[in-house]
Amino acid sequence: MVKRFYVDQYVDRILAGDRVVLSRAITLVESTLPADQELAQEVINRLLPQTGHSVRLGITGPPGVGKSTFIETFGNYLIQEQGKKIAVLAIDPTSQRTGGSILGDKTRMASLSTHPAAYIRPSPAGKSLGGVARNTREAVLLCEAAGFEIIIIETVGVGQSETAVHSMVDFFLLLLLAGAGDELQGIKKGIMEMADALVINKADGSNITKAKRARAEYQQALHLFPPTSSGWRPQVALCSALEDTGIDAVWHLVTEYLMLTKQNSYFTRQRQEQNLHWLHQTIRYALEDRFFSHEVIRTRLPFLEKQVTKGQITPFKAAADLLKLL
Ligand code: GDP
Repeated sequence: MVKRFYVDQYVDRILAGDRVVLSRAITLVESTLPADQELAQEVINRLLPQTGHSVRLGITGPPGVGKSTFIETFGNYLIQEQGKKIAVLAIDPTSQRTGGSILGDKTRMASLSTHPAAYIRPSPAGKSLGGVARNTREAVLLCEAAGFEIIIIETVGVGQSETAVHSMVDFFLLLLLAGAGDELQGIKKGIMEMADALVINKADGSNITKAKRARAEYQQALHLFPPTSSGWRPQVALCSALEDTGIDAVWHLVTEYLMLTKQNSYFTRQRQEQNLHWLHQTIRYALEDRFFSHEVIRTRLPFLEKQVTKGQITPFKAAADLLKLL
């Protein structure tokens, strides 16, 4: 009875746009306590009909490219010029190493974080990428129920996290610098292929000519990529997050993309596929978690690891033996 009361409270307050309760619900999502998890699932399930109505934007790029500056400028533009309410979430698996979050940090987006139409949530710390990604996926739904119309998910463009972000957004934006070279920027080709827009930031001052040249080069490079299943041709844009130029053009790209993909139903199809992907991912994570935390496995695994190392048993036989124990 008490729990039902809690669920109702969460649901009502989140639907009313109460950001304190929204934050508490996201904390529940991030909690590893089974009771919290269960409560979180009930709240999300109840809110489900009120979710999905936002635009989900993924933003990635190498450290220093200007992601937080861009999100601040872009976010303020969306609020002031487009009248939108925006939420910023971060996927930052590196925070477990540094002990604190480097992304979504409130001090990095000073003006945005104090705006009543913006909600900024740092990446949960101390979790694996799988865990962080799953939590973020659920936080998106909660933010949507709370009335946020544009959800920005930020990640550092150096690891596996872009793939996770790509699998939960409608539009994927890659921020780049002019003249730094793809390898230098740590951008893998696969990531460029996932992008719906390449935006060259810091196109200001003496950098403008270089930025224009880079735009032409990236446009050339994009022509070599196979056509996307969305029917959308990825675009290259220039902007200066610092001087607030070219920001509206980026938003127009997003709206053009939305118009096209809603018309050809790719938008809905992609979201359906993403839901299926997350169903499978969640099962995978849960099974893995249950397996490795199982008492019997935990006692038996070190022994078999030693045997595998010494070549006394094949990894396949060892795995089969362990799986049989469950
Ligand atoms: P992040 O690591 O990708 O989040 O990058 P930041 O937003 O922290 O920016 C890194 C540095 O680049 C900061 O010193 C910013 O002031 C600077 N910066 C960001 N955007 C621009 C821009 O459009 N033009 C110029 N000239 N500098 C920028």
